[in-house]
Amino acid sequence: MTTKKHISVIAAIIFCLVMVACSGKQSPGQQHDQAKQAPAKATPQQAQSDPQPVATIYIYRYDDFPEAKAARLRDQLKQVYPSVILAETSIPLPKECYYKPRDRYKGTGLLDDLMKLRNGGYALGLTRRIIYIKNEISPTFGIFGISYVGGSVSVISSLRPRTLKPLSEDDMQELMLHELGHAFGLPHCKDERCMMVDAEHGCKFAQTQSFCSSCKNYLNSKGWKL
Ligand SMILES: [Zn+2]
Ligand SMILES: [Zn+2]
Repeated sequence: MTTKKHISVIAAIIFCLVMVACSGKQSPGQQHDQAKQAPAKATPQQAQSDPQPVATIYIYRYDDFPEAKAARLRDQLKQVYPSVILAETSIPLPKECYYKPRDRYKGTGLLDDLMKLRNGGYALGLTRRIIYIKNEISPTFGIFGISYVGGSVSVISSLRPRTLKPLSEDDMQELMLHELGHAFGLPHCKDERCMMVDAEHGCKFAQTQSFCSSCKNYLNSKGWKL
């Protein structure tokens, strides 16, 4: 993984959703983007014999995202979250989200698509196409992943938007956990070694392989096993 520098953050309000985007400079800048929505509930429950039920994370492959790669991501996620289901069949990328002149898909459009598929839990979409957001740099700025913060949906791309090279599976795994952290309600973290660090702080996949204790505690309260 090369060093990535990041230069911007935007915030916008779309209905009840708040979006923040981290932009990358240099070749494969790491970008994420989030927006706010109603957080998923966590029912208070007594511990011990009656473990707290957790909402399921449903993983969806868009179009030709490789099944075996998705299965490996599912297995990695299962190591930190108890209820993960990978949909057997892939789903089509919504045609209305496609921006042909730059051959990329609108990230928030994919999130809205996934909102219909989360079944009361969480939905993570996997694509090997470029996804974009509108920011101050470009109306179709390529990003790695996007989530609604606390909104239960994320989508990540295995394709680096600038170099068009695929992410390694390790990087993809970290991207997945970062975006799901947003989906579960985590904002960016000030700790530069934390996986939830903002891209603008020079976030590097290779240097942020775990969550800080604060982010861990938060996610564990949501059913994670970190
Ligand atoms: Zn992020
Ligand atoms: Zn943190």
